[in-house]
Amino acid sequence: MEDKEKKKVLQTLPLIPVKDIVIFPHAEVPISLKREKSVKALEEALVKDKILFLVMQKNREIEEPTTDDLFDVGTISKIASVQRLPDGVVNITVEGLKKAKVTEHVRVDPYFEAEVDEIDELEYSAEEIDALIRPMVEQFRRCISLGKSVPLDLIPAIFDLSNPYQTLDMIILNLELKQIEKQALLEAPDLKSRAKILSEYLAREISILQTARKIQDKTSEEIGKNAKEAFLREQLRTIEKELGVKEEREEFGELETKIRESGMPKETEAKALKELDRLRKMPQFSPEVSYLRTYLDWLVDLPWSAKSESKIDVKEAEKILNEDHYGLKKVKERILEYLAVHKLTGKMKGPILCFAGPPGTGKTSVGKSIARALGRKFVKVSLGGMRDEAEIRGHRRTYVGALPGRIIQGMKDAETKNPVFMLDEIDKLGIDFRGDPSSALLEALDPEQNHSFSDHYLEVPFDLSDVMFITTANILDTVPPPLRDRMEVIEFPGYTEDEKFHIATGYLWPKQLETHGLEKNILKLSNEALRTIISGYTREAGVRNLERELATICRKVAREITESKIKSAEVNSKSLHKYLGPEKFEPWIAEKQDEVGVSTGLAWTEVGGQVLNVEATMMPGKGQLLLTGYLGDVMKESAQAALSYTRSKTADFGIKENFFKDKDIHIHVPAGAIPKDGPSAGITMATALVSLITKIPVKKEIGMTGEITLRGRVLEIGGVKEKVLAAHRAGIRKVVLPKKNKKDLEEIPAKTKKELKFTFVDNMDEVLKNALKTNPFRAIRTEKTIGIEPQRATISAA
Ligand code: ADP
Repeated sequence: MEDKEKKKVLQTLPLIPVKDIVIFPHAEVPISLKREKSVKALEEALVKDKILFLVMQKNREIEEPTTDDLFDVGTISKIASVQRLPDGVVNITVEGLKKAKVTEHVRVDPYFEAEVDEIDELEYSAEEIDALIRPMVEQFRRCISLGKSVPLDLIPAIFDLSNPYQTLDMIILNLELKQIEKQALLEAPDLKSRAKILSEYLAREISILQTARKIQDKTSEEIGKNAKEAFLREQLRTIEKELGVKEEREEFGELETKIRESGMPKETEAKALKELDRLRKMPQFSPEVSYLRTYLDWLVDLPWSAKSESKIDVKEAEKILNEDHYGLKKVKERILEYLAVHKLTGKMKGPILCFAGPPGTGKTSVGKSIARALGRKFVKVSLGGMRDEAEIRGHRRTYVGALPGRIIQGMKDAETKNPVFMLDEIDKLGIDFRGDPSSALLEALDPEQNHSFSDHYLEVPFDLSDVMFITTANILDTVPPPLRDRMEVIEFPGYTEDEKFHIATGYLWPKQLETHGLEKNILKLSNEALRTIISGYTREAGVRNLERELATICRKVAREITESKIKSAEVNSKSLHKYLGPEKFEPWIAEKQDEVGVSTGLAWTEVGGQVLNVEATMMPGKGQLLLTGYLGDVMKESAQAALSYTRSKTADFGIKENFFKDKDIHIHVPAGAIPKDGPSAGITMATALVSLITKIPVKKEIGMTGEITLRGRVLEIGGVKEKVLAAHRAGIRKVVLPKKNKKDLEEIPAKTKKELKFTFVDNMDEVLKNALKTNPFRAIRTEKTIGIEPQRATISAA
């Protein structure tokens, strides 16, 4: 660029201040003149050469600006047209000619007049101009491509690069700029600086346009998506029609009929119909369809009104119970009484039956018989290990894969609203952070509440008041107390070997033969073999394992027959080994010797009556007591009492008073996997302890049970029948029992009773006299004879 001497062209021109308008050369702009001074300036120009100087005022609010309120740089403009309005306002159109700067304000009254100096552009070479203008034209082109609207007729002029100044001014004219920004452009001293400012404005414009485009794209995408969905849905409808889905939709009609015919209460029906309506309106392939369908299926499948024709005929019930079960005299009696009461009162109100007893004692099968006797359906739901309230009461439908709880599931299986409903193993109900299942269970069982049992999934109440609930438990200790309070307990104490023999011959064996498709004369089982199975292959209160062993025999024989190895078989005590392997249990007594520190207790555990060893040992220490063998709290306290008793009697046993000072005592009850609790091992533990310190062995043939007090009194205990039966099973023939339990012998079958010798005791002295090989009270011992060797000595029976 050559810096040439600028030729000054000064002119004196009428000046009109304008608000919010920057007039660029080449632009044609309409202006409305309202101010008197402005009109006067116009008149002046009109009489001369129609040339005006237009300049923007700095603040548009000022009505009567002074020269200080005006910018210096403005535009020399030519008046193109004039239109006078009746109210004195004059509209004119001006055409910008040249930029100019005020050098002097010549007058301010009656109109502004100023001496102005034209701003000449520096002269640039054609290349320089090109280099400056081209990028801007490109930017502007980009604006247009991004959607900037420009009057069509202006486009040729903008892109006509032969007149770069015009191009530039046109671009400026078509940009959305603030007036102050336009003024800055106007004031820019030369092309270069103007190009720089403009380039920034253009960049900003592009970015604004881009953002607008993005927003617009998104919006149109949304609109497009909706249109697409509507289109697809229409297509789907056509496809559905083609595939005959319409027929499926007609099923809704069937569903509606089912709802109306299901006999559900009015409110429930209204709810079901509402949900059905929702289902109808859903597009067929919506995932919710299947959830809603499942829900409605549940509703219609439940027995809202279907009932078994049930009559209580006590005589008939007695017949059926006897038909199905051997023995269980007391159980049957209690059940018949219960039924008789219900017959009189009409409704299934009152306490709920709880069958308590070890596994395999016939609880389930008695339940089934009751159902048969009453002509009702039977359902059984196991509660073992259930920790979550939702398992009983169901999950809310908002859960994926939600289902009703077990009670409602059971009712669906029952198909009638008055089944015999067995809740198995309520003693195994858990409680944790997910709510207390027992409280949900209470609601189901409580006759005051169960006419409207609420299940989370169903959301509508269900009437359980016609259901006959029976619960079962192995032991009652762990049944939640509020539940236990509402139940009438019927004990299933377990069977004697003789009873098992009868159950096997009369029920289990025929049943197994039938299950395995074997005729009575094809497979024979000798009585002797059966007795061996009972005593040598099983040791249980119930008959579950016995049934299993019998099934094993049938299975093996059935296989041999199908493989044509044999035509028939006879199982006797000799061939038993072939089918069942070696005997699993020897009589308890045979495994034992008379030992020091080991006594035999009779206990009542989850699996029924049990014979348990109590072992006591001693080691150097500080007089502490260590207890092991999965013992409950009551049993631990009972061990403490036994030890205290023993310590208080040391003198009587001829042992020094401070004998225990430097010794620790350990009591262990083997069979560690079975939880044991209760006070009834008190005398057994005391016996082991006395034997330990006196070194007098305990007689192996004696089994004992009884609670001990600190002073050595022996108190009454429970479960005598179970314990005595267990002792008998184990081959024990002498049993020591508390005197107060004498009455319980009545329950024991005469045959068993005859084979046992009972000793009833009042205090510990009697226990020791009976259980120890020699009388400990007579012996006078000294520290020397006692010794403190850590291990318990084993003395074989003399
Ligand atoms: P539980 O429910 O107490 O665990 P089950 O009712 O399942 O026991 O009984 C196990 C099996 O023993 C069943 O086949 C049942 O019929 C049979 N059973 C139990 N007690 C008797 C009995 N007194 N008379 C006939 N069969 C019995």
